[in-house]
Amino acid sequence: MFRRKTRILVIEDDREITRILRRSLAAHGYEVLIAHSGEQALEVLEQQSPHLLLLDLGLPNMSGLDVCKQVRIQSKSLPIIVLSVRNTESEKVQVLDLGADDYITKPFGMDEILARIRVAMRRTFLSSQEMESILTLGPLQIDFEHQTVSLNGQAIKLTPTEYDLLKILVEQRGKIVTQSMLLSHVWRNDQKNNPIFSTSLWGNCVVRLNRTQFILVS
Ligand code: CA
Repeated sequence: MFRRKTRILVIEDDREITRILRRSLAAHGYEVLIAHSGEQALEVLEQQSPHLLLLDLGLPNMSGLDVCKQVRIQSKSLPIIVLSVRNTESEKVQVLDLGADDYITKPFGMDEILARIRVAMRRTFLSSQEMESILTLGPLQIDFEHQTVSLNGQAIKLTPTEYDLLKILVEQRGKIVTQSMLLSHVWRNDQKNNPIFSTSLWGNCVVRLNRTQFILVS
């Protein structure tokens, strides 16, 4: 079955910690995105929709707390695991009250971080399963668990790319979906700077979008 890797955004200004996290998480099969500031993190968040955030509190300019607040305005369910050298009970309470899901004190062990990530992702998967493993929009039904789509009860055969495209459009329904979001989610960033790919992408994309629109409004 076609599955994407879990995508983790590491928000950390310490280059050495970033390097260790990137290497260890990638070695365990995660796709790793890096932001060295809160501002950069919000851009990455918008463009690449990670599945989980590892958030350092001590960031330059925009603090980790502000990042946490901002993320929660945009998403209530995105798992946030905070990393911090500070270790007071009041700070932990503050961070958890702001919407973080978990709190790890530095210095940390990689095994602990990996275990907390597994717990957070399991919780997210279970709650998304409970809430929306099957989404019905009028005559359209999408089964996210089995990655199948039907219209008026008839199964529709989609390629993995078409399925991903439909999924992001449905997930972002009511919002603007930018070219860079599609490139990141559906075609990945590998081809972002390839003008030939971008041109042919848009030719194909229009066809696929039209099909999708047909599906969504039929
Ligand atoms: Ca820091």
